[in-house]
Amino acid sequence: MSTTAKPTVKSYQNYINGQWVASSSGETFPVYDPSTEEVIAHVASATAADVDIAVKAARAAFDSGPWAQTTAQDRGRILFKIADKIRQNTAMLAELEARNCGKPIVEAEYDLADVATCFEYYGGLANKVTGHVNPVPANALSFTLREPMGVAAQIIPWNFPLLMAAWKLAPAIAAGCTCVLKPAEQTPLTAMELANWFEEVGLPPGVVNVVNGVGEVTGAALVAHPGVDKVAFTGSAAVGKIIVKSAADTLKRVTLELGGKSPNVFFADADWEAAVDGALFGVFINQGEVCSAGSRVLVEKKIYTKFVEAMTEKAKRIKLGPPLDRDTKMGPLVSKEQYDRVTSYLEIGKKEAKTAIGGGRAKAFAKGYYVEPTIFYDVQNSARIAREEIFGPVASVIPFENEAEAIRISNDTPYGLAAAVWTRDIYKAFRVVKSIRAGIVWVNHMQPTYVEAPWGGYKQSGFGRELGPWGLEEYLETKQVFVNLDETPIGWY
Ligand code: NAP
Ligand code: MG
Repeated sequence: MSTTAKPTVKSYQNYINGQWVASSSGETFPVYDPSTEEVIAHVASATAADVDIAVKAARAAFDSGPWAQTTAQDRGRILFKIADKIRQNTAMLAELEARNCGKPIVEAEYDLADVATCFEYYGGLANKVTGHVNPVPANALSFTLREPMGVAAQIIPWNFPLLMAAWKLAPAIAAGCTCVLKPAEQTPLTAMELANWFEEVGLPPGVVNVVNGVGEVTGAALVAHPGVDKVAFTGSAAVGKIIVKSAADTLKRVTLELGGKSPNVFFADADWEAAVDGALFGVFINQGEVCSAGSRVLVEKKIYTKFVEAMTEKAKRIKLGPPLDRDTKMGPLVSKEQYDRVTSYLEIGKKEAKTAIGGGRAKAFAKGYYVEPTIFYDVQNSARIAREEIFGPVASVIPFENEAEAIRISNDTPYGLAAAVWTRDIYKAFRVVKSIRAGIVWVNHMQPTYVEAPWGGYKQSGFGRELGPWGLEEYLETKQVFVNLDETPIGWY
């Protein structure tokens, strides 16, 4: 059943130094429901001047506020309280997320469970950060302190809005950093709802600020600001490169989670049903708007024709529909811009390869940015649809002759975020795992991601790791303390 009641159009301000504030320019921007193309909210655009106030607030909170006096236990408790708020409000947040970014409500509920788990994980990890005693060959005590990196600028995309916010905020808070978060302009709503609870859970003013606006203005001002110590970015490789250049001026620490063109590799001996399912799930979950989407489906020639047919048959059953319908498996793309981008790739694909299914707008819908799940086959790995990240429900199926060729094609990409291999042969699986240059390789699965395990890319998929203890490390500096225990003067001069 879809919800038919029209939601009220809400207005949101920016959350700076513990206050909700309008933009200094007075400007706002509209936020849409991509299934109806209607405006569902107005959000204040943060100017460079607003960003400056937010960074200064985060700076003051880090340098001289009560935050510096909090214990790791205190910070852990705050993170658990945030998780509780999320669990208590999952229905509201999941609906808002689905409505704003177009993802099926059932998937939004999974995301929300992951959001709460992420805050709980880092709540538990906060007081497990320890230093080290260093065995220096001197009558001295050398040890390390792990200290928060400072003010973190955190810029996130629209495909998993609140989850990406959690991946950024939770480890930063655990570490004792202060934050200025910039959600994607398309999907800021759940992060703004989250900010509603910051004061109540005990975050002092300035510790977490949320500023909204377009990347080129709000995001760029944040990255360039000399008061920022660290930039954590998730988004496209193109913007990642701009960010690294800008951050270089003040040598900020940078971590980047960028895109991919991930291979999902199927050998002839793979479990058939699981493999066909895995090929579809790998690329069509979340409308294909997934950085680790298995958008290159590599299939051994022995099973190639049958596999493409089976994928196609099953893809016909993928139910497109409004995000709030519980049986919807694929909603609209997030925005008009993304719809135009993906459909332009569909035109390119129809020229570069053969079309098994899809290839255009889903015609059952008069409104909304719905695109058919599309499978192109006989794709050359040199084709644009095999090289460029489409970030939509588009599979490029590529045949391969043998294991060596599968590995060669898998690695023939500028990206290295993820890969998967399907086979019943454990020796072959491990040879492929070791040969593929990517931050994660799944065997006989694709996409599950857990907060306990690291996430991040090789090559142009970025650097640094999120999640697990690795994610916390990225917000910590290491200070060595050397305590001389030898009372005799140095006696050098
Ligand atoms: P995007 O255009 O790179 O934007 C990402 C974020 O950066 C948005 O908040 C955006 O702001 C902001 N931004 C844009 N230009 C900027 C600039 N010059 N300076 C500072 N910030 C700037 O990516 P997207 O279109 O939102 O998301 C899709 C991309 O993200 C895909 O390429 C995908 O692979 C990648 N992604 C990667 C991961 C991962 O974990 N590796 C996860 C999700 C997505 P506005 O959009 O508000 O203007
Ligand atoms: Mg953008």
